[in-house]
Order: sequence, then C-alpha cells, then structure tokens
Amino acid sequence: MDVFKFGGASVADAQGIRNVTSILERMKGRPVMVVVSAMGKTTNALETVVEAYYAGRREQALDIFRKLFDRHVDVLREITADGSIQAEAHLDEFRTEVEWLLHDRPVRSFDYYYDQIVCVGELMSTVIMTAALQGAGRKVHWVDVRDIIRTDDQFRSARIDLTFTAGQVDRIIKHAFTSSDIVLTQGFIGSTDENESTTLGREGSDYTAAVFAALLGAAALTIWKDVPGVMNADPRTTDNPVFIPALSYDEAVEMTFYGAQVIHPKTLYPLRKHAIPLYVRSFLQPEVPGTVIGPKKIDGLPPVIIRKSGQVLLDMITTDRQFLRDETLVRLLELVKHHQLTVNLIQTHALSVSLCVDERRDHLEAFCQEAAAFLDIEVHRGLSLLTIRHPRPESTGDLTEGRRMLLQIRAGDVAQYVLED
Ligand code: ASP
Ligand code: MG
Repeated sequence: MDVFKFGGASVADAQGIRNVTSILERMKGRPVMVVVSAMGKTTNALETVVEAYYAGRREQALDIFRKLFDRHVDVLREITADGSIQAEAHLDEFRTEVEWLLHDRPVRSFDYYYDQIVCVGELMSTVIMTAALQGAGRKVHWVDVRDIIRTDDQFRSARIDLTFTAGQVDRIIKHAFTSSDIVLTQGFIGSTDENESTTLGREGSDYTAAVFAALLGAAALTIWKDVPGVMNADPRTTDNPVFIPALSYDEAVEMTFYGAQVIHPKTLYPLRKHAIPLYVRSFLQPEVPGTVIGPKKIDGLPPVIIRKSGQVLLDMITTDRQFLRDETLVRLLELVKHHQLTVNLIQTHALSVSLCVDERRDHLEAFCQEAAAFLDIEVHRGLSLLTIRHPRPESTGDLTEGRRMLLQIRAGDVAQYVLED
C-alpha cells in the first residue's frame, strides 16, 4: 500500500483535480490511501471568515464564506459535467453547519471557532476529489478523518492520540480497502473525544499523511508538490536552486527545523520510526522521480541554504554580572518552556546568553517580564536566521552581504547567521 498526499496547489481548480485523477490512474491495481489539503488558498480565506466572525462582523463572515462555498460548487460542477447530486448535497451539509455556527455570537475561544470553521476547507476539497475519481470510474471511499484521527483539545495545534487513532485505522481504513482501491481523506484536521473539530497546525496535512503511512505500514509516502523535489534552496527566492535526488531523514529533519518549507517538520518522525521512505515529487511532472528521503546517509550534498524569517534575538546578561550559572540557565529554559517560545539557536558566554526565537509577540513580552528578574535583556526584532549546511566559502558571502549580522555560529558542517531583514 502507498500513501499519497496532495497539497492545496495540486487541487486548486478543476484542471488540478483532473491532473490528480490522472496521477492516480497510474496506480491502478495498487491500493492507495490519499490525503488531500484544502483547495488552493482556501485555508487562508477561511481564516478571514473566522476573524470577521469573531470580531462581530457576521455579515462579512457569511459573505466571504458564501463566495468560497460557491467556488467549490462551481469546481464540482465543472469536473462532473452535469454535477453530482450526491456530492453537491454533501457539500451543502458543510455549508449549513458553518452558516449555523456563524449565526450565533461567539462564546468560546477564537481557536475553537477557528478549528470548527477552517476544517471545512479539507472536507469540501475531498468531496470534490472523490466525485472526480468516481466520475473516472474508480472505486474510491471517502472518509471523514475526524472519525479516525483523535486529538486532544488544543485547538489549532492539536496533538494526535496515536493509540486511539491506530485502532480506528485498523477498524475503518483497513476495512474500507476491502472494497475500494482508493481511500481518500482529509489532512490537517481531527476531532476530540467530544466530537469537536481540531486542526494540527498550518500545513499539517503532510503530518497526517505520515501518521497514516506509519499506521498502515505503507511501502512509501509520496508528497506531491509544485516543485520537482527537494532543492538546496527555496526555489521561490533563489535563482539557480540545485535539485537533490536523495537525502537522509536526519538531513531533512535539520532542514525543516531551520525553516525549509518543503515538508512539515513533524512529518519525518513517524516515517523514520518505521523506516518508510518519503518521496517528494512534482504533480506537474509526474514522470520525474523526485527526491527520496530515507535512512541512508548521503554524502557530497551541495550547500543547503535555509532562511527563516520572523526571528527575534534576545541578548541576555546576568543582572549581577556574575558568571552564568547552570541554575540560571535552567531557570531561563523553564521560562522558555512555560511561555512556549520556539528556540532556533542558543549561544552562551561567561556572563551572557543569546537566544534566537520565533516572533510571538504576547508570549515574548510575558517571557521578558519574568526573565528580567535575573537577566538584563536586549530585544532585537525583524531578523532572519540563515542556516547553511555543508557551506562552501564561496557560497556564504553573497547571502550575508549588505545586511547587519547580529550573531554568527560555525559548528561542524553548519554555519548560521542572525541577520537584519
Ligand atoms: N490546508 C491547510 C493549510 O493550508 C493544511 C495543509 O495544507 O497542509 O495550512
Ligand atoms: Mg497547503
């Protein structure tokens, strides 16, 4: 069995959906679990619905949602020619649910409403994708992933209960394959034990697919993207990115940790645990083999360049100018944990310590207030973290040129720079 994940860009419109149908055509005769994201920029649009609703602008929320919904119906009608009555009725159920919710005043947290509304993007895209495959004569079974993926109630960053989920995969997914070649479901979303919808964090569909691959013991996971595979630098911002045909899990984990957006950082863990290879391939050039990520260490990689923006540097020095003791560091890291900061880099000296963290304004302010009890803090905002793995002397200069450098670390085969944007 294989697991395929199709992101929003691959199913953005009727043409994209037809293309995915033809990619799946090549898999005829082999069971494949298909995980799909919301169409195109639907998640962003749904976020604006939630914002308007929560700010008390109900009409605006309804209006944005309605337009988005209508676009989905249009795509469905386009791909099924005469429109599939069953699929349209299914879409309409989701519309009714959202509209009901929008009619009441919010009484719970923003994050709760976010998840109840945003999950509809994936639900709608998968109904349309299923109708397309059925129209092409495929035996496909649509599954509401909220019946499978059980999570806690940390809305917007829910964590999966793997034990419960594994049981559902055995009961529902494996059973569905006894009568279908394709089982198709949503990425990114799940449900609590009280049947409230949850989401796993933006771009979380990769992670959903990896969890399914692990629980199904899949031969491989393939993530279909709009790039031919993993490149040594972000092709959107780099002129001549170099294609990397093979990578180790470790290398890929390092890349995603420092901000490479090619796959969601959490994706690799379940795969590595079961030694399942991950293929990153292009849905635009499905004949090209793409990048394979697996257990084998790969030598001779080109310099890998990763930029993470939205960084804040905290330069901290002991208030009494005594040496930085272990207890002080422990206290500091406890605060980091308590305020949920994401530390990307840490450097210590005799009296001082510097942290490069993701910008999260309210969390940072609370953190600084508490840390000020034992450290003098200087906060530098508007920065980015440049990580170069396997750097070559000639590759570094151009990337840092003309920008103020606040911190620089060279350790083993990795160079890192905190730069002003
Ligand atoms: N649709 C969600 C997002 O755009 C999840 C995903 O695409 O992975 O973040
Ligand atoms: Mg996406």
